Amino acid sequence: MTERKYFGTNGVRGVVGELITNFFVNKLTSAISSFIENKGVVVVGSDARTSSPFIKYAVISTLLSSGIDVIDIGLVPTPLTQFAVRKLKARLGIMITASHNPPQFNGLKVISDDGIEISVEDQIKVEKELEEGDFYFSDWTKLGNVTKINMIDEYIDQIISFVDIDKISKKKMKVVVDGGNGVGSLITPYLFKKLGVKVFSINTTLDGYFPGRGSEPLPHLLTEMARTAKSVNADFSIAHDGDADRAIFGDERGVVYWGDRSIAIFEKMILQDEQNKLFVTPVSSSSVVTDIAEEIGGKVEWTKVGCIYVSRTMQKLNAILGGEENGGLFYSPHVPVRDGAMAGALMANILSTSSSTFSELMNELPQYAQLKDKVQCPNNLKSKVLDAISSRVKGYTELITIDGLKAIYDNGWVLIRPSGTEPIFRIFVEANTMDEAEKLLKEGKKTIKETIESFQ
Ligand code: MG
Repeated sequence: MTERKYFGTNGVRGVVGELITNFFVNKLTSAISSFIENKGVVVVGSDARTSSPFIKYAVISTLLSSGIDVIDIGLVPTPLTQFAVRKLKARLGIMITASHNPPQFNGLKVISDDGIEISVEDQIKVEKELEEGDFYFSDWTKLGNVTKINMIDEYIDQIISFVDIDKISKKKMKVVVDGGNGVGSLITPYLFKKLGVKVFSINTTLDGYFPGRGSEPLPHLLTEMARTAKSVNADFSIAHDGDADRAIFGDERGVVYWGDRSIAIFEKMILQDEQNKLFVTPVSSSSVVTDIAEEIGGKVEWTKVGCIYVSRTMQKLNAILGGEENGGLFYSPHVPVRDGAMAGALMANILSTSSSTFSELMNELPQYAQLKDKVQCPNNLKSKVLDAISSRVKGYTELITIDGLKAIYDNGWVLIRPSGTEPIFRIFVEANTMDEAEKLLKEGKKTIKETIESFQ
Protein backbone atom coordinates (compact mmCIF):
# COMPACT_ATOMS: atom_id res chain seq x y z
CA MET A 1 0.00 0.00 0.00
CA THR A 2 2.65 2.48 1.12
CA GLU A 3 4.70 1.89 -2.00
CA ARG A 4 2.18 3.82 -4.12
CA LYS A 5 1.78 7.56 -3.98
CA TYR A 6 -1.08 8.09 -6.42
CA PHE A 7 -2.87 4.78 -7.07
CA GLY A 8 -5.49 3.93 -4.47
CA THR A 9 -8.02 1.10 -4.21
CA ASN A 10 -9.50 2.00 -7.61
CA GLY A 11 -7.03 3.87 -9.78
CA VAL A 12 -5.76 7.41 -9.33
CA ARG A 13 -8.28 9.84 -7.86
CA GLY A 14 -8.29 13.38 -6.55
CA VAL A 15 -10.01 16.73 -6.47
CA VAL A 16 -10.13 18.57 -9.77
CA GLY A 17 -7.86 21.62 -9.67
CA GLU A 18 -5.85 20.13 -6.80
CA LEU A 19 -4.28 16.77 -7.76
CA ILE A 20 -6.25 16.47 -10.98
CA THR A 21 -4.99 19.15 -13.39
CA ASN A 22 -4.22 18.89 -17.12
CA PHE A 23 -0.51 19.09 -16.23
CA PHE A 24 -0.76 16.09 -13.87
CA VAL A 25 -2.98 14.14 -16.28
CA ASN A 26 -0.42 14.68 -19.08
CA LYS A 27 2.41 13.42 -16.87
CA LEU A 28 0.43 10.43 -15.61
CA THR A 29 -0.65 9.47 -19.13
CA SER A 30 2.95 9.82 -20.36
CA ALA A 31 3.99 7.45 -17.58
CA ILE A 32 1.27 5.00 -18.64
CA SER A 33 2.50 5.27 -22.26
CA SER A 34 6.07 4.55 -21.16
CA PHE A 35 4.79 1.58 -19.13
CA ILE A 36 3.45 0.03 -22.37
CA GLU A 37 6.60 1.12 -24.26
CA ASN A 38 4.63 3.66 -26.31
CA LYS A 39 3.11 0.88 -28.39
CA GLY A 40 -0.29 -0.61 -29.11
CA VAL A 41 -3.88 0.57 -28.99
CA VAL A 42 -5.53 2.12 -25.92
CA VAL A 43 -9.28 2.26 -25.35
CA VAL A 44 -10.48 5.46 -23.64
CA GLY A 45 -13.91 5.83 -22.00
CA SER A 46 -15.25 8.41 -19.59
CA ASP A 47 -18.06 9.04 -17.13
CA ALA A 48 -20.33 12.10 -17.21
CA ARG A 49 -18.55 14.33 -14.65
CA THR A 50 -18.11 18.01 -15.55
CA SER A 51 -14.32 17.53 -15.56
CA SER A 52 -14.31 14.36 -17.68
CA PRO A 53 -14.05 16.13 -21.10
CA PHE A 54 -10.88 18.09 -20.25
CA ILE A 55 -9.26 15.01 -18.72
CA LYS A 56 -10.27 12.82 -21.63
CA TYR A 57 -8.76 15.15 -24.22
CA ALA A 58 -5.57 15.53 -22.16
CA VAL A 59 -5.30 11.72 -21.95
CA ILE A 60 -5.95 11.25 -25.67
CA SER A 61 -3.58 14.06 -26.70
CA THR A 62 -0.74 12.58 -24.65
CA LEU A 63 -1.33 9.05 -25.94
CA LEU A 64 -1.32 10.27 -29.56
CA SER A 65 1.84 12.27 -29.04
CA SER A 66 3.52 9.10 -27.76
CA GLY A 67 2.63 7.28 -30.96
CA ILE A 68 -0.24 5.27 -29.45
CA ASP A 69 -3.49 4.76 -31.36
CA VAL A 70 -6.65 5.52 -29.40
CA ILE A 71 -10.14 4.06 -29.60
CA ASP A 72 -12.53 6.55 -28.08
CA ILE A 73 -15.68 4.75 -26.87
CA GLY A 74 -17.32 7.89 -25.46
CA LEU A 75 -19.49 8.19 -22.35
CA VAL A 76 -19.71 4.71 -20.83
CA PRO A 77 -19.78 2.82 -17.52
CA THR A 78 -16.40 1.52 -16.29
CA PRO A 79 -17.37 -2.13 -16.94
CA LEU A 80 -18.11 -1.25 -20.57
CA THR A 81 -14.56 0.08 -20.99
CA GLN A 82 -13.32 -3.15 -19.41
CA PHE A 83 -15.47 -5.18 -21.81
CA ALA A 84 -14.23 -3.10 -24.78
CA VAL A 85 -10.53 -3.58 -23.95
CA ARG A 86 -11.00 -7.34 -24.23
CA LYS A 87 -13.32 -7.25 -27.21
CA LEU A 88 -11.08 -4.90 -29.21
CA LYS A 89 -7.91 -6.73 -28.08
CA ALA A 90 -6.40 -3.43 -26.97
CA ARG A 91 -3.13 -3.16 -25.07
CA LEU A 92 -4.75 -1.14 -22.27
CA GLY A 93 -7.84 0.81 -21.26
CA ILE A 94 -8.14 4.14 -19.50
CA MET A 95 -11.43 5.01 -17.83
CA ILE A 96 -11.88 8.60 -16.71
CA THR A 97 -13.99 8.43 -13.57
CA ALA A 98 -14.05 8.94 -9.82
CA SER A 99 -16.70 6.22 -9.44
CA HIS A 100 -18.96 7.08 -6.49
CA ASN A 101 -16.91 10.06 -5.18
CA PRO A 102 -18.47 13.54 -4.92
CA PRO A 103 -18.70 15.66 -8.11
CA GLN A 104 -15.49 17.67 -7.55
CA PHE A 105 -13.42 14.46 -7.78
CA ASN A 106 -12.16 12.70 -10.88
CA GLY A 107 -9.43 10.27 -11.83
CA LEU A 108 -8.15 7.49 -14.05
CA LYS A 109 -8.70 3.75 -13.82
CA VAL A 110 -6.07 1.87 -15.82
CA ILE A 111 -7.25 -1.40 -17.29
CA SER A 112 -5.07 -4.29 -18.37
CA ASP A 113 -5.58 -6.24 -21.63
CA ASP A 114 -7.62 -8.88 -19.76
CA GLY A 115 -10.20 -6.24 -18.74
CA ILE A 116 -9.16 -6.14 -15.07
CA GLU A 117 -7.48 -3.10 -13.53
CA ILE A 118 -3.69 -3.30 -13.68
CA SER A 119 -2.08 -5.12 -10.75
CA VAL A 120 -0.51 -3.33 -7.79
CA GLU A 121 2.94 -4.32 -9.17
CA ASP A 122 2.10 -2.61 -12.48
CA GLN A 123 0.74 0.45 -10.66
CA ILE A 124 4.13 0.72 -8.94
CA LYS A 125 5.83 0.49 -12.37
CA VAL A 126 3.65 3.33 -13.70
CA GLU A 127 4.48 5.45 -10.64
CA LYS A 128 8.19 4.75 -11.17
CA GLU A 129 7.87 6.04 -14.74
CA LEU A 130 6.09 9.08 -13.35
CA GLU A 131 8.88 9.73 -10.83
CA GLU A 132 11.58 9.34 -13.49
CA GLY A 133 9.70 11.75 -15.75
CA ASP A 134 11.56 10.61 -18.84
CA PHE A 135 8.68 11.06 -21.26
CA TYR A 136 8.65 10.10 -24.89
CA PHE A 137 7.48 12.19 -27.83
CA SER A 138 6.92 10.30 -31.05
CA ASP A 139 8.46 11.21 -34.38
CA TRP A 140 5.96 13.36 -36.28
CA THR A 141 5.49 10.64 -38.90
CA LYS A 142 4.48 8.10 -36.22
CA LEU A 143 1.93 10.01 -34.15
CA GLY A 144 -1.21 8.08 -33.15
CA ASN A 145 -4.71 8.24 -34.60
CA VAL A 146 -8.15 8.29 -32.95
CA THR A 147 -11.07 6.11 -33.93
CA LYS A 148 -14.49 6.61 -32.37
CA ILE A 149 -16.53 3.46 -31.76
CA ASN A 150 -19.88 3.02 -30.04
CA MET A 151 -19.78 -0.30 -28.15
CA ILE A 152 -23.07 0.04 -26.27
CA ASP A 153 -25.15 -2.38 -28.38
CA GLU A 154 -22.43 -5.00 -28.41
CA TYR A 155 -22.07 -4.72 -24.64
CA ILE A 156 -25.80 -4.99 -23.98
CA ASP A 157 -26.05 -7.96 -26.38
CA GLN A 158 -23.25 -9.79 -24.58
CA ILE A 159 -25.00 -9.29 -21.23
CA ILE A 160 -28.27 -10.57 -22.70
CA SER A 161 -26.49 -13.68 -24.04
CA PHE A 162 -26.03 -14.86 -20.43
CA VAL A 163 -29.72 -14.73 -19.47
CA ASP A 164 -32.94 -16.30 -20.69
CA ILE A 165 -34.61 -13.47 -22.59
CA ASP A 166 -37.78 -15.51 -23.31
CA LYS A 167 -38.38 -16.38 -19.68
CA ILE A 168 -37.71 -12.81 -18.57
CA SER A 169 -40.02 -11.23 -21.13
CA LYS A 170 -42.80 -13.77 -20.45
CA LYS A 171 -42.76 -12.86 -16.77
CA LYS A 172 -43.77 -9.25 -17.65
CA MET A 173 -41.65 -7.73 -14.93
CA LYS A 174 -41.48 -4.17 -13.74
CA VAL A 175 -38.17 -2.65 -12.63
CA VAL A 176 -37.26 0.76 -11.22
CA VAL A 177 -33.84 1.99 -12.40
CA ASP A 178 -32.13 4.78 -10.43
CA GLY A 179 -29.22 5.87 -12.63
CA GLY A 180 -27.95 8.37 -10.06
CA ASN A 181 -27.42 10.87 -12.94
CA GLY A 182 -24.44 8.71 -13.98
CA VAL A 183 -23.46 6.77 -17.09
CA GLY A 184 -25.42 3.67 -16.05
CA SER A 185 -28.43 5.67 -17.26
CA LEU A 186 -27.19 5.07 -20.82
CA ILE A 187 -27.28 1.30 -20.41
CA THR A 188 -29.51 -0.27 -17.77
CA PRO A 189 -32.93 1.14 -18.83
CA TYR A 190 -32.27 0.05 -22.43
CA LEU A 191 -30.95 -3.34 -21.35
CA PHE A 192 -34.18 -4.04 -19.43
CA LYS A 193 -36.29 -2.75 -22.29
CA LYS A 194 -34.54 -5.22 -24.62
CA LEU A 195 -35.32 -7.98 -22.09
CA GLY A 196 -39.02 -7.15 -22.27
CA VAL A 197 -39.10 -5.59 -18.79
CA LYS A 198 -41.18 -2.48 -18.12
CA VAL A 199 -38.81 0.22 -16.89
CA PHE A 200 -39.50 3.12 -14.52
CA SER A 201 -36.49 5.44 -14.67
CA ILE A 202 -35.43 7.98 -12.08
CA ASN A 203 -32.30 10.17 -12.00
CA THR A 204 -31.41 9.01 -15.51
CA THR A 205 -30.52 12.45 -16.87
CA LEU A 206 -26.73 12.70 -17.12
CA ASP A 207 -25.54 15.43 -14.78
CA GLY A 208 -21.99 15.84 -13.47
CA TYR A 209 -23.31 17.53 -10.32
CA PHE A 210 -25.28 14.36 -9.37
CA PRO A 211 -28.28 16.41 -8.18
CA GLY A 212 -30.66 13.42 -7.78
CA ARG A 213 -29.32 11.55 -4.73
CA GLY A 214 -25.55 11.89 -5.06
CA SER A 215 -23.20 9.50 -6.86
CA GLU A 216 -22.99 6.81 -4.18
CA PRO A 217 -25.97 4.43 -3.95
CA LEU A 218 -26.18 4.19 -0.17
CA PRO A 219 -29.41 2.38 0.77
CA HIS A 220 -30.68 5.20 3.04
CA LEU A 221 -30.37 7.72 0.17
CA LEU A 222 -32.45 5.67 -2.27
CA THR A 223 -35.81 6.78 -0.89
CA GLU A 224 -37.25 7.88 -4.23
CA MET A 225 -36.34 4.56 -5.81
CA ALA A 226 -37.89 2.68 -2.88
CA ARG A 227 -41.07 4.74 -2.97
CA THR A 228 -41.43 4.30 -6.74
CA ALA A 229 -40.88 0.53 -6.50
CA LYS A 230 -43.64 0.27 -3.91
CA SER A 231 -46.10 2.49 -5.73
CA VAL A 232 -45.74 0.75 -9.13
CA ASN A 233 -45.44 -2.67 -7.49
CA ALA A 234 -42.11 -3.31 -9.23
CA ASP A 235 -40.50 -6.74 -9.07
CA PHE A 236 -37.30 -5.05 -7.94
CA SER A 237 -35.37 -1.81 -8.11
CA ILE A 238 -31.71 -1.16 -8.94
CA ALA A 239 -29.42 1.81 -8.31
CA HIS A 240 -25.93 2.44 -9.67
CA ASP A 241 -22.99 4.53 -8.58
CA GLY A 242 -21.44 7.21 -10.84
CA ASP A 243 -19.66 4.75 -13.15
CA ALA A 244 -22.20 1.91 -12.84
CA ASP A 245 -19.89 -0.84 -11.71
CA ARG A 246 -22.04 -1.25 -8.61
CA ALA A 247 -25.67 -2.23 -8.18
CA ILE A 248 -27.75 -1.81 -5.03
CA PHE A 249 -31.12 -3.57 -5.06
CA GLY A 250 -34.50 -2.94 -3.50
CA ASP A 251 -37.58 -5.16 -3.26
CA GLU A 252 -41.23 -4.81 -4.30
CA ARG A 253 -42.19 -3.40 -0.87
CA GLY A 254 -39.71 -0.54 -1.04
CA VAL A 255 -36.97 -2.01 1.15
CA VAL A 256 -33.41 -1.38 -0.08
CA TYR A 257 -30.62 -3.80 0.89
CA TRP A 258 -26.87 -3.59 1.39
CA GLY A 259 -24.84 -5.40 -1.24
CA ASP A 260 -23.83 -8.35 0.91
CA ARG A 261 -27.44 -9.51 1.07
CA SER A 262 -28.01 -9.24 -2.67
CA ILE A 263 -24.69 -10.93 -3.47
CA ALA A 264 -25.83 -13.82 -1.27
CA ILE A 265 -28.92 -14.19 -3.49
CA PHE A 266 -26.70 -14.34 -6.58
CA GLU A 267 -24.43 -16.84 -4.83
CA LYS A 268 -27.35 -19.08 -3.95
CA MET A 269 -29.34 -18.87 -7.17
CA ILE A 270 -26.46 -18.92 -9.66
CA LEU A 271 -23.93 -21.24 -8.02
CA GLN A 272 -26.41 -23.92 -6.96
CA ASP A 273 -26.61 -25.04 -10.60
CA GLU A 274 -22.89 -24.77 -11.29
CA GLN A 275 -20.13 -27.35 -10.93
CA ASN A 276 -17.71 -24.76 -9.55
CA LYS A 277 -19.48 -23.39 -6.49
CA LEU A 278 -16.61 -21.15 -5.38
CA PHE A 279 -17.66 -17.66 -4.27
CA VAL A 280 -14.93 -15.00 -4.07
CA THR A 281 -15.45 -12.09 -1.69
CA PRO A 282 -13.43 -9.72 0.54
CA VAL A 283 -12.99 -10.52 4.25
CA SER A 284 -15.39 -7.67 5.11
CA SER A 285 -18.44 -9.52 3.73
CA SER A 286 -21.23 -10.83 5.94
CA SER A 287 -21.37 -14.43 7.15
CA VAL A 288 -24.45 -14.75 4.95
CA VAL A 289 -22.07 -15.76 2.15
CA THR A 290 -20.59 -18.63 4.18
CA ASP A 291 -24.07 -19.78 5.28
CA ILE A 292 -25.16 -19.93 1.64
CA ALA A 293 -21.96 -21.72 0.61
CA GLU A 294 -22.74 -24.36 3.23
CA GLU A 295 -26.34 -24.65 2.06
CA ILE A 296 -25.43 -25.25 -1.59
CA GLY A 297 -22.28 -27.31 -0.95
CA GLY A 298 -19.98 -24.50 -2.08
CA LYS A 299 -16.98 -22.68 -0.66
CA VAL A 300 -16.02 -19.07 0.03
CA GLU A 301 -12.59 -17.75 -0.95
CA TRP A 302 -11.69 -14.63 1.08
CA THR A 303 -9.66 -11.81 -0.43
CA LYS A 304 -8.29 -8.45 0.64
CA VAL A 305 -10.76 -5.57 0.44
CA GLY A 306 -10.78 -4.07 -3.08
CA CYS A 307 -12.33 -5.14 -6.37
CA ILE A 308 -8.98 -5.80 -8.02
CA TYR A 309 -8.24 -8.57 -5.48
CA VAL A 310 -11.63 -10.19 -6.11
CA SER A 311 -11.11 -10.08 -9.89
CA ARG A 312 -7.55 -11.43 -9.81
CA THR A 313 -8.48 -14.22 -7.35
CA MET A 314 -11.44 -15.23 -9.51
CA GLN A 315 -9.15 -15.38 -12.51
CA LYS A 316 -6.58 -17.49 -10.67
CA LEU A 317 -9.13 -19.96 -9.30
CA ASN A 318 -11.43 -20.00 -12.36
CA ALA A 319 -14.34 -18.83 -10.21
CA ILE A 320 -17.62 -17.89 -11.86
CA LEU A 321 -18.91 -15.51 -9.24
CA GLY A 322 -17.68 -12.91 -6.79
CA GLY A 323 -19.24 -10.09 -4.83
CA GLU A 324 -18.68 -7.15 -2.50
CA GLU A 325 -20.83 -5.64 0.23
CA ASN A 326 -20.84 -2.26 -1.57
CA GLY A 327 -22.92 -3.77 -4.39
CA GLY A 328 -20.16 -5.10 -6.64
CA LEU A 329 -21.08 -8.28 -8.50
CA PHE A 330 -18.47 -10.10 -10.60
CA TYR A 331 -19.66 -12.62 -13.20
CA SER A 332 -16.68 -14.08 -15.05
CA PRO A 333 -18.45 -15.63 -18.08
CA HIS A 334 -19.04 -11.94 -19.00
CA VAL A 335 -15.92 -10.14 -17.66
CA PRO A 336 -14.46 -10.94 -14.21
CA VAL A 337 -15.01 -7.38 -12.98
CA ARG A 338 -17.87 -5.79 -11.09
CA ASP A 339 -20.61 -4.76 -13.46
CA GLY A 340 -23.87 -3.10 -12.40
CA ALA A 341 -25.80 -3.78 -15.60
CA MET A 342 -24.76 -7.45 -15.64
CA ALA A 343 -25.96 -7.70 -12.02
CA GLY A 344 -29.33 -6.21 -13.06
CA ALA A 345 -29.81 -8.69 -15.89
CA LEU A 346 -28.88 -11.62 -13.64
CA MET A 347 -31.37 -10.45 -11.01
CA ALA A 348 -34.13 -10.32 -13.65
CA ASN A 349 -33.10 -13.82 -14.73
CA ILE A 350 -33.27 -15.15 -11.16
CA LEU A 351 -36.70 -13.64 -10.54
CA SER A 352 -38.06 -14.86 -13.87
CA THR A 353 -37.55 -18.47 -12.80
CA SER A 354 -38.27 -18.11 -9.10
CA SER A 355 -41.72 -18.50 -7.60
CA SER A 356 -40.63 -16.24 -4.71
CA THR A 357 -40.73 -12.47 -4.76
CA PHE A 358 -37.57 -10.48 -4.15
CA SER A 359 -38.51 -9.82 -0.50
CA GLU A 360 -39.23 -13.50 0.04
CA LEU A 361 -35.79 -14.44 -1.32
CA MET A 362 -34.26 -11.85 1.02
CA ASN A 363 -36.23 -13.09 4.02
CA GLU A 364 -34.95 -16.64 3.46
CA LEU A 365 -31.40 -15.41 4.13
CA PRO A 366 -30.06 -15.53 7.69
CA GLN A 367 -30.27 -12.18 9.52
CA TYR A 368 -27.30 -10.65 11.30
CA ALA A 369 -26.63 -7.46 13.22
CA GLN A 370 -23.67 -5.42 11.95
CA LEU A 371 -21.77 -2.47 13.42
CA LYS A 372 -18.86 -0.37 12.17
CA ASP A 373 -16.57 2.03 14.03
CA LYS A 374 -13.01 3.37 14.06
CA VAL A 375 -10.15 3.94 16.50
CA GLN A 376 -7.46 6.61 16.06
CA CYS A 377 -3.92 5.25 15.68
CA PRO A 378 -0.74 6.99 14.44
CA ASN A 379 0.28 5.65 10.99
CA ASN A 380 3.75 4.58 12.17
CA LEU A 381 2.28 2.29 14.86
CA LYS A 382 -0.33 0.52 12.73
CA SER A 383 1.63 -2.57 11.69
CA LYS A 384 3.16 -3.11 15.15
CA VAL A 385 -0.25 -2.71 16.77
CA LEU A 386 -1.86 -5.15 14.34
CA ASP A 387 0.81 -7.79 15.05
CA ALA A 388 0.34 -7.35 18.78
CA ILE A 389 -3.46 -7.56 18.53
CA SER A 390 -3.22 -10.90 16.74
CA SER A 391 -1.50 -12.43 19.78
CA ARG A 392 -4.02 -10.79 22.16
CA VAL A 393 -7.27 -12.01 20.61
CA LYS A 394 -8.46 -15.28 22.10
CA GLY A 395 -11.31 -17.74 21.92
CA TYR A 396 -11.86 -17.60 18.17
CA THR A 397 -12.74 -20.58 15.99
CA GLU A 398 -10.81 -19.14 13.02
CA LEU A 399 -8.40 -16.25 12.50
CA ILE A 400 -8.13 -14.80 8.97
CA THR A 401 -5.16 -12.48 8.38
CA ILE A 402 -5.49 -11.77 4.65
CA ASP A 403 -6.33 -8.11 5.24
CA GLY A 404 -6.07 -6.84 8.79
CA LEU A 405 -7.35 -9.42 11.22
CA LYS A 406 -10.70 -11.20 11.22
CA ALA A 407 -11.48 -13.29 14.29
CA ILE A 408 -14.45 -15.59 13.87
CA TYR A 409 -16.35 -16.68 16.99
CA ASP A 410 -19.31 -18.99 17.48
CA ASN A 411 -21.74 -16.08 17.65
CA GLY A 412 -20.14 -13.64 15.15
CA TRP A 413 -16.91 -12.05 13.98
CA VAL A 414 -14.69 -8.99 14.40
CA LEU A 415 -12.60 -7.49 11.60
CA ILE A 416 -9.86 -4.99 12.46
CA ARG A 417 -8.18 -3.27 9.48
CA PRO A 418 -5.73 -0.37 9.34
CA SER A 419 -6.95 2.31 6.94
CA GLY A 420 -4.70 2.75 3.88
CA THR A 421 -5.17 6.52 3.87
CA GLU A 422 -6.13 7.74 7.38
CA PRO A 423 -4.47 7.33 10.83
CA ILE A 424 -7.21 4.97 12.03
CA PHE A 425 -8.12 1.33 12.51
CA ARG A 426 -11.50 0.37 11.13
CA ILE A 427 -13.48 -2.17 13.10
CA PHE A 428 -16.41 -4.16 11.70
CA VAL A 429 -18.45 -6.62 13.72
CA GLU A 430 -21.29 -8.98 12.93
CA ALA A 431 -23.26 -11.14 15.34
CA ASN A 432 -26.54 -13.02 15.69
CA THR A 433 -28.10 -10.23 17.76
CA MET A 434 -27.50 -6.48 18.22
CA ASP A 435 -26.59 -7.05 21.90
CA GLU A 436 -23.86 -9.50 20.92
CA ALA A 437 -22.65 -7.17 18.15
CA GLU A 438 -22.38 -4.29 20.63
CA LYS A 439 -20.45 -6.48 23.01
CA LEU A 440 -18.02 -7.62 20.30
CA LEU A 441 -17.54 -4.01 19.19
CA LYS A 442 -16.85 -2.81 22.72
CA GLU A 443 -14.32 -5.59 23.38
CA GLY A 444 -12.66 -5.11 19.98
CA LYS A 445 -12.26 -1.36 20.48
CA LYS A 446 -10.88 -1.93 23.96
CA THR A 447 -8.27 -4.39 22.64
CA ILE A 448 -7.18 -1.93 19.90
CA LYS A 449 -6.93 1.00 22.34
CA GLU A 450 -5.02 -0.99 24.97
CA THR A 451 -2.59 -2.29 22.36
CA ILE A 452 -1.95 1.22 21.01
CA GLU A 453 -1.37 2.47 24.56
CA SER A 454 1.18 -0.30 25.20
CA PHE A 455 3.36 1.23 22.47
CA GLN A 456 3.06 4.83 23.67
MG1 MG B 1 -17.83 2.65 -9.17
